[in-house]
Amino acid sequence: MTSKEIRQSFLDFFASKNHKIVPSAPMVIKDDPTLMFTNAGMNQFKNIILGNDPIKYPRVADSQKCLRVSGKHNDLEEVGLDTYHHTMFEMLGNWSFGDYFKKEAIEWAWEYLTEVLKLDKNRLYVTVFEGSPNDNITRDDEASYIWEQLIDKDRIINGNKKDNFWEMGDTGPCGPCSEIHIDIRPDEQRKKIDGKTLVNKDHPQVIEIWNNVFMQYNRKVDGTLEDLPAKVIDTGMGFERLCMAMQGKTSNYDTDIFQPIIQTIANHSGIAYGKSEKSDIAMRVIADHLRTIAFSITDGQLPSNAKAGYVIRRILRRAVRYGYTFLNQQNAFIYRLLDVLCDVMGEAYPELLSQKELIGKVIREEEESFLRTLDTGIKLLDKQITSSRQEGKSVISGVDAFTLYDTFGFPLDLTELILRENGMSVNTDEFNAEMQKQKDRARNAASVEATDWVHLNEGESQFVGYDIATTETKILRYRKVTHKKKSFYQIVLSKTPFYAEMGGQVGDKGILIDSKGDKTMIFDTKKENNLSVHLVDKLPVSIDGIFTAKIDEDYRMAITCNHSATHLLHETLRQILGSHIEQKGSYVSAESLRFDFSHYQKLTKEEIRAVEKEVNRKIRSNYPLEEMRDIPIAEAQKMGAMALFGEKYGETVRVIRMGTSTELCGGTHIDATGNIGMMRIVSESSIASGIRRIEAITGRAVEDMIDAQQDMCGSIKELYNNSPDIIKAIERSLNENLELKKQVEVFEQQRIISLRDTLMSNIDNEGGVNVIRSIQKDMSADNVKGLVFNIRNLIAEKGSADQPFMIVIGAVYNDKPSLTLFLSDELVEKGYSAVNLIRTAAKEIQGGGGGQPHFATAGGRNINGLQKAMDMIKL
Ligand code: ATP
Ligand code: MG
Repeated sequence: MTSKEIRQSFLDFFASKNHKIVPSAPMVIKDDPTLMFTNAGMNQFKNIILGNDPIKYPRVADSQKCLRVSGKHNDLEEVGLDTYHHTMFEMLGNWSFGDYFKKEAIEWAWEYLTEVLKLDKNRLYVTVFEGSPNDNITRDDEASYIWEQLIDKDRIINGNKKDNFWEMGDTGPCGPCSEIHIDIRPDEQRKKIDGKTLVNKDHPQVIEIWNNVFMQYNRKVDGTLEDLPAKVIDTGMGFERLCMAMQGKTSNYDTDIFQPIIQTIANHSGIAYGKSEKSDIAMRVIADHLRTIAFSITDGQLPSNAKAGYVIRRILRRAVRYGYTFLNQQNAFIYRLLDVLCDVMGEAYPELLSQKELIGKVIREEEESFLRTLDTGIKLLDKQITSSRQEGKSVISGVDAFTLYDTFGFPLDLTELILRENGMSVNTDEFNAEMQKQKDRARNAASVEATDWVHLNEGESQFVGYDIATTETKILRYRKVTHKKKSFYQIVLSKTPFYAEMGGQVGDKGILIDSKGDKTMIFDTKKENNLSVHLVDKLPVSIDGIFTAKIDEDYRMAITCNHSATHLLHETLRQILGSHIEQKGSYVSAESLRFDFSHYQKLTKEEIRAVEKEVNRKIRSNYPLEEMRDIPIAEAQKMGAMALFGEKYGETVRVIRMGTSTELCGGTHIDATGNIGMMRIVSESSIASGIRRIEAITGRAVEDMIDAQQDMCGSIKELYNNSPDIIKAIERSLNENLELKKQVEVFEQQRIISLRDTLMSNIDNEGGVNVIRSIQKDMSADNVKGLVFNIRNLIAEKGSADQPFMIVIGAVYNDKPSLTLFLSDELVEKGYSAVNLIRTAAKEIQGGGGGQPHFATAGGRNINGLQKAMDMIKL
């Protein structure tokens, strides 16, 4: 079977068992502060499992794009080295939400593997949870009994808490699980060593393919377990591993999913796959990472310097580095593999095809910039190697290696490799300690503690904020949250007009008023696991009664204007610049709006003007808002609504139309575009290769900006005596200024020459040394220096430089005193130092100084001490 057929057969099988087949959620998660990437099939159902979202379909199945490169699941370091872990992989899964439980889950898994796919039963093993006295749970005999009806008892293995007990997090839903493992070793090896002894022992050919999780408990903050009201089945099977087993291969990379990519890399580098362990690993790494990067970009996550973007950047760099070191790729080449990736996966994932140009540009630019970094890093390391050699050391400090890693993106293994070639090594303990410190810092910055929810009232929270700004409501539940040493409360309301931060629109602020009129400030509203949580510093005095919830309407209005303007801007950019424009991010606050989009060059002044003019025309046209709720997604798309890649939409959506702009959107919008008043673009810049950012303001903010600019122009005009042509007047004055500066310079030069001559005719002899001592008013430091060197040159010209001499100039400039001291070579040779002399004297002017043995300067604050300081400078 081809991989395509295998994927389809899984979905068909569970459809035949009355499962609703749903699409994969995006791999990049945007609205969950606790998780950057989808790392398991269950992520998109988390809110159903937590009971926050209603159960629409009790049975669901899908194939989910997963990424395991950070946090709880991080397989990155294994990828490429082994043959069965990927960064991005597809997880096939079936779910039951409060419907069937262990019996059906186990029986169907078995039926699918052994009857539909006809995998050899003698190669399969299963595990069940052995129990945990600490948690008061006994062995999962229930699952074991079900298995015993299907499989030899001898093939059922007890598993420990680490492998066979699944938890969503420190708190929340959890339960035992049962895994299915497959032994794909050749028969002769299987005869020699019993496969059973290799289960869960990291053997590359005795591996887990399918995990069935039975969620039946909820773990509370104090660690105890309670029964879940609605039990959940959550299963996940590694698609690439299943294909390997089905296609009779011993490596995921030998399946039809990866071979075309691997072969292209082999052709490109001129090294055959299978030639050496090192080049094979490199090819696997690159083939794997290519998929991850391409799919992240289609999901809207570009490589960047922070958070999820940084994770993606590091993965790309890992691929570049393997190509560089083991396949001799000194130039960007990964972007060239995009064609073959599109051939393999473009049909199943059309977004890959439509965004191919952008993906290619981003990858290429990232590759090129990292290759430059590698170059810099290698040079730095070379310097360290040379200096360590000179000091007779053969170990480079872990702190240095960490700096290379952290600031130059230079991986430790590369540092080690280069050092090894030079007969040196790194202090890895030190390196690891630095790494740990950094992790601790990150963890402390991110750690959030929350108490268990306190439930006051039953019911679901309902958002009424599209229609009204004030409503009567009750508190459903609340809890205390501590983040970065700051504590606050989260409150869930039965009905709420407060918009919770989502889709780039910031959350509402406002108040909660109790029956006695006491007010509690709500300072922000956020979405957490799809619950709208209202943030307050302290709880209302009586939390039980009826409240009035009221948003800050001015604040909301400003946000709303910016959001509606963003839609008009989006549409207008496509009209003026072309339909390749795609939204890559947006942020809408009360102050301004930000819109990121794909486009390959800087907007010209004329384009920016044209965009503003067209948006403002749409605003003045005063198009009424057409808001359509609960429209089936297919119908919405027929209406021409723009959907965003990487965004997760339900089956029904909300459509927002203003004039000809039609978008899928959950945000708040004005009644008619005229309410926006006006929009003005305040900046246009590049944020990544192929991605531009526009920042703009609307309404009152535009008015304020025009006022401020007008006031500034008014003040400038006044300064230029209200000249009718202000630009000319300024130009004239700048030119005049330039002329005057030139003249002043000429005069200064003349002054210095005549001063020099005066001073030269006034030389004193102090104990055999020729001394010039003088105080100058209104002379800049530069000019004093010019004067001193002019004197020195003249002495040299006269041929009397062999006589010892000293020049001491005190100056006052801008009401500040300064000292300048020059000593002839002979004096320096005798051991005198201008620096030492001037430092002591500078105390008199309350200052400090420095310089070289023959020339030093000092600045100070006390003009009255200048004469005394001058007198102190004596040899
Ligand atoms: P393993 O111990 O092999 O890493 P796991 O215990 O992390 O697996 P689960 O979290 O139970 O795996 O995920 C369910 C299934 O997803 C696994 O049975 C396996 O087939 C597949 N899987 C897990 N991690 C990866 C990965 N990095 N690449 C490919 N498939 C994977
Ligand atoms: Mg794992």
